[in-house]
Amino acid sequence: MTEAKAAPAFWGDGKIECKKCGRVWYLTKHSLIQRDPDSVECRCGETLHSWNGAVMYTAELIKPIPGDKEHKEGA
Ligand SMILES: [Zn+2]
Repeated sequence: MTEAKAAPAFWGDGKIECKKCGRVWYLTKHSLIQRDPDSVECRCGETLHSWNGAVMYTAELIKPIPGDKEHKEGA
């Protein structure tokens, strides 16, 4: 078994860092019945991951950047 140091593409659950702003997201993969090409985007507009298959991903922000008010929800 060899560890792949640089995966060619993100596939599966895991952390992904936005190359543009530095926020870190945790993507969770969900299986779908139908093929549903789509993508998830960071708050800054950068595409974190796109796919083309019977899956979808949800992104949870796990590491905000300074200026994000992630812990102060509400008005
Ligand atoms: Zn970003």
